[in-house]
Amino acid sequence: MDKHNLTKQRAKKRLILHYYSATAFLALVALWFIFFYTTNAISLLQVALIAFFSLPLIAGSYVLYSQQKNLHQEIANHQTTLSELADQRQKISQAMEASKLALWEWDLETDSIYHSHFFDIFGYKEDEIPHFMGHLQPLVHPDDYPRLRQALIDSLKGRNAHFQCRFRVKHKSGEWRWLEDHGEVVERNSVTGTAKKMLGTRRDITEEQEKDDYLQLAWKAFESSGEATYIISPDSKIIFVNQAFVDITGYSRQELLDKDFWSVDCFAATRDFYKSISRSLKMEGRWEGELVQQRANGESYPQWLRVVRVLNSSQQKPFTIAIFSDLTQSREVEARLNYLAEYDELTGLANRGQFYDRMHQRLAQARLYKEKLSLIVFNIDRFKAYNNSLGHHAGDKLLKLAAERISNVLTSAVIISRTGGNEFAVLINGDEDQALLLSEELQEQMHLPFNVDRQELRLTLSVGISSYPDHAHELQVLLNQADQARLSCKSLGGNRIQVYNDTIRQSSLELLRLEQDLRKVLETNEIEVHFQPKLDLKTGKITAAEALARWHHPEQGYISPAVFIPLAERTGLIETLGIQVLEQSCQQAAQWYYQGIEIQVAVNIAAQQLDSGSLVQQVDELLNKYELPASLLELELTESTLMEDAEAAIVEMQSLRNRGISLAIDDFGTGYSSLSYLQRFPLDVLKIDRSFLMTDQGSKNQGTLTRAIIALGHGLGMRVVAEGVEDSQQLEELKQLGCDFAQGFIISKPVPAESFTQLLEQQY
Ligand code: C2E
Ligand code: MG
Ligand code: MG
Repeated sequence: MDKHNLTKQRAKKRLILHYYSATAFLALVALWFIFFYTTNAISLLQVALIAFFSLPLIAGSYVLYSQQKNLHQEIANHQTTLSELADQRQKISQAMEASKLALWEWDLETDSIYHSHFFDIFGYKEDEIPHFMGHLQPLVHPDDYPRLRQALIDSLKGRNAHFQCRFRVKHKSGEWRWLEDHGEVVERNSVTGTAKKMLGTRRDITEEQEKDDYLQLAWKAFESSGEATYIISPDSKIIFVNQAFVDITGYSRQELLDKDFWSVDCFAATRDFYKSISRSLKMEGRWEGELVQQRANGESYPQWLRVVRVLNSSQQKPFTIAIFSDLTQSREVEARLNYLAEYDELTGLANRGQFYDRMHQRLAQARLYKEKLSLIVFNIDRFKAYNNSLGHHAGDKLLKLAAERISNVLTSAVIISRTGGNEFAVLINGDEDQALLLSEELQEQMHLPFNVDRQELRLTLSVGISSYPDHAHELQVLLNQADQARLSCKSLGGNRIQVYNDTIRQSSLELLRLEQDLRKVLETNEIEVHFQPKLDLKTGKITAAEALARWHHPEQGYISPAVFIPLAERTGLIETLGIQVLEQSCQQAAQWYYQGIEIQVAVNIAAQQLDSGSLVQQVDELLNKYELPASLLELELTESTLMEDAEAAIVEMQSLRNRGISLAIDDFGTGYSSLSYLQRFPLDVLKIDRSFLMTDQGSKNQGTLTRAIIALGHGLGMRVVAEGVEDSQQLEELKQLGCDFAQGFIISKPVPAESFTQLLEQQY
C-alpha cells in the first residue's frame, strides 16, 4: 500500500471520530435545555454546572472544528498532489511515447513480462510471443546473444548493479534492428538474494547505429586517405592528423596532437605564408594552392594544399581543415614524361620526335646560310637474332652499349637519335664525303667487341646516307632516300655503307613495280613450284625433294626467290605465297604417292606463316584434301624463323609433329641459334648450309666443321642433309663423314614435277 493511501485512510478515521464527538456535545446541550424548561429554575449551581459541562464541550468542538478544517485542507492538498501526479504521469508517458522508449518489467518468479511499445519494437503482438524471454533467443542475432546473456546474468547475480546491452533482434519484417537495453534488479529475495524482479528500458537505436556506422566509415576514409589531413581548433591547436600526414611529413602523432600549430617546425618555418592563407580564409572561407613545405627531417617537398574553415554547431569560432597531397612523385613523373617526350628511355639518345624537330630547324638554317648537311641512318645487322638468342635483357644491354659507342664516335653530330628498335639516325654538318668518313669510322668501332653477359659480340651495320642539298631539299625525302640506301645494304647481307644514288632510286622503283606484279601473280595463282631431289647417301636413291617457289615474269623471265621471297616477306604477301606453294607441293606428293612413288616433299615455311597461328589447320586441310600421308610432308624452318619466338614455335612444331609431319631446320649455322634451344625444338632433320661446305673445302682443316655439324645433328637424334653439293668430291666426302642425304646441283637443279618424275624413272 502506498503512502498516499495511508494518509487518506487515517484522515477518514479522524473524520468519523470528530463526527461522533460533535454529536455527543450537541446531545448534551439538548439535555440541558430540556432540563432548563422542565425545572424553570436557573441557579448559580446550574450555571456553574452548565459552564462546567459545556466549556470543555465548546473547547472540544473548537478543537474538532479546527481539526476538521485542517483535515479539509489536507484533503485539498492531497487532491492537488494527486492531480499533479496524474499530470506528471501523463507527461512521462507522453515523453516515453515521444522517445520511443519502451519499459519492461520482468517478474522472474512467474517469468511474466510487462513490455510497453512491444509491437513498435518487435513487430509482433504481445500474444504472438507469450513466453517472451524464452522466445527472445531465436530473435536475437547469434553474434550478439552471448553478450546479452552474459550482461543479464551479471546483473541478476548482482555482479553488475546496472544492466546495459546493445544487441540486434530480427523484426517481424525480417530486418535486423539494433536495440539498447538498460535495467536493474529491483527486488530480491531477502534471504537468498535471488533476483525477483527486474525493471528496464529498451530503445530501438537502429538509426543511430547506422549513423554511427556511417560516421565510422567516414572516419576510416579520412584516416586511410592518401591525402594528408589535419584539423586545427579555433585556439590554434592541432586536434587531428591522419596516417597520410604522418607518412608524408615524418612527424609522429604525439609530436602534433594538442600542440600549438605554430610550435610545429614545418608550420613555423612558413609562418608568413600561412598568415596570408589565413587572410584569404577569412575573406573567402577556403584556399587552395601549391607551397613548398618541410618534412620532419628538414627535406623540402612540394605540396598541393586545400584549406577550409568550418563552424561547428556550438562554436562561433571556426575550425580549420587542411588537406594536402605530396607532389614529389607527380613532379618526378612529369619530369619523366617531359624527358620521354624528347628522349629514348633505354639509350638516352634523342627520340624520333626530337630528331625531326631538330632536323627541321637545322635544314631551315642550312637553306639560309647555304650550308651542307648529311643524314646517316643505320641499323645493327641481325639484331633480332641477338635479341632472341641472348634474351631481351641482354639485347637491351647491347643496344645501350652500342648507343654509348655511337655517341663517342660521332661527337661532331648535330643530333643522334634512336628512331626505332635497332635503327638510328644521325644528322651531321657536311656533305656525303664527310658522312662516309664518319660512317666508316663508326662501322670500324662497332666491329670492336662488346661484352654482354660474359659474351663477346662484334656488330656490323647497314648504313644509308643522303645529303642536303645534293640529293634532296626536303626533310621527308632525305629520310626516305637514306632509308632506301640502308635497305639496299640490308638486302646485300648488311655490313655495308651506301650513299643514296640513282641506282638505288631505280631499284626501289623497280621493287615497287615488282611488288605490284607479285600481287597480280598471287591473285592468279601463277607461282610455280620446282622440285630439287635429295639423295639418300646410304642407298644412292632419290627418296625426297625440296619444293622451291619459282616466278616466271612475263618481261623479266625467272626472278630469283632471293629477290621475291624477301619482297613478299616485307609486303606481307608471304602468307599467300606460302600457302600456294604448300598446296602445290601436297598435290604433287599425293600424285606421286598414288602412282606408287613415295617421295617425301619438303616445303619452306616463312616466319610469318608460323606466327599466323593457322599453319596447323592449313596443313590439316591440305593433307585431307589430297589424302596425303603426313609422313610424306616435311616442313623446313630456318634458324631465324625459329628464334623469332622460340617458345611459341616449339608449341606449334609439337602439334605438327604429332601429326607425323617431319620438321627440318634449314640453313643451319647461319642464324646464331642457341644450342640449348636447338635441343628443345622438336626436329627430325638438320640441313647444313651451303656456305659450310664451301668454307670447309678451301680451309686447312678440310671437313672439320661439316663433320662437327653432322655429329651434332646425329647427337641430337636428327638426320643430316647437306645443301648445295656441287661436285662429286664433296659428295664422296659427305658419304665418308656419315651424312645422311645430299642436295645440290651435282644431283640435280630444282626442276618442274614432270622432269623430276623422269629423274626418278631413270634411277630404276
Ligand atoms: P633454301 O630453302 O635453302 O633452298 C635451297 C636453295 O639453294 C635454293 O635456292 C636452291 O636452288 C639452292 N641450291 C640448291 N643446290 C645448290 C647448289 O648446288 N649450288 C647453289 N649455288 N645453289 C643450290 P632458291 O631456289 O634460289 O631459293 C632460295 C631460298 O629462297 C631458299 O633457300 C628458301 O629460303 C627461299 N625459298 C624458296 N622457295 C620458297 C618458298 O616457297 N617459301 C619460302 N618461305 N622460301 C622459299
Ligand atoms: Mg629450304
Ligand atoms: Mg637452305
